[in-house]
Amino acid sequence: MNLRKLIFTNNACYKAGRTIAIKGVMVHSTGTNNPNLRRYVGPDDGLLGKNQYNNHWNQDKPDGRQVCVHAFIGKLADGSIATYQTLPWNHRGWHAGGSANDTHIGFEICEDGLTDAAYFNAVYNEATELCAYLCKEYKLDPMADGVIIGHFEGYKRGIASNHGDPNNWFPKHGKSMDSFRAEVKELLDADKPVTPPKPVEPLKPETPSAIKKGDTVKLSGIATYYDGKTIPSWVKGQNWIVREVKGDRAVIDKNESGTNSICSPVNVKFLSVAGATPPAQTYEIYTVVKGDTLWGIAKSKLGKGERYPEIKSLNGLTSDVIRAGQKLKISLK
Ligand SMILES: [Zn+2]
Repeated sequence: MNLRKLIFTNNACYKAGRTIAIKGVMVHSTGTNNPNLRRYVGPDDGLLGKNQYNNHWNQDKPDGRQVCVHAFIGKLADGSIATYQTLPWNHRGWHAGGSANDTHIGFEICEDGLTDAAYFNAVYNEATELCAYLCKEYKLDPMADGVIIGHFEGYKRGIASNHGDPNNWFPKHGKSMDSFRAEVKELLDADKPVTPPKPVEPLKPETPSAIKKGDTVKLSGIATYYDGKTIPSWVKGQNWIVREVKGDRAVIDKNESGTNSICSPVNVKFLSVAGATPPAQTYEIYTVVKGDTLWGIAKSKLGKGERYPEIKSLNGLTSDVIRAGQKLKISLK
């Protein structure tokens, strides 16, 4: 919208100085083939161009009539489209010829020959933008009954004189006051600040805890008691039987061997089931062939013959004797 302001301070309507509580907006079209704003708005501000007849509406009684509207939409001298506000928005206008003057802002769209689609679309769009602006400014619902109406609708409602505008024009270009209201609403909706989408909170895993009553658990190195107090290392060094679990609170009681009973609450996040995750395989299986010695295997597999006791230890051997076909675990480290 190209909204400009040239208040008709010389018009008797302006001088009457009455204000209204704005309830809506009435759309008019001029009924005369003259799309130039300078016909109605003056004096020339450098953009309008000069009205050689000086019959614009910024005079006491334009064309001898008591008429005044809040705005005109039409062409500037350069052919571009503009809106000129010509009365303060809350000023009581003389546009409806009825009680709508007491409630509605009224503006005129300058008609041309009514066949130029480009001009029509330009001023129609300008008018929707003006109405969206006014709806926003005065908190009007464009879709509510009787808020944005054409002059002809005002007549039907008994609040305006018997004129057909702008229904003499809109339908020639596939538009109506219904489409007009809908488009004003679209503009308002599009103008609403987009609420930034809330960051999606990661869902808490539904599986609360793998820990359940009766499990044998071990404590993580950083574990504390449920109330945050320090867990002594002798407790951390043992496996414990879970006595009960409620939510994230588990009570560990007896140790694995049954020699201690501590009955202490701990957050389940610090617990893991003892032996639940088998240690990753850290050895390979070597099958002894004839002539192998532990020393020789240690030398070839571990890099040093001196490491042969590690093979013995890993395989629980009690002597150095091995035999062909025997399978030995050999550490991968
Ligand atoms: Zn009218």
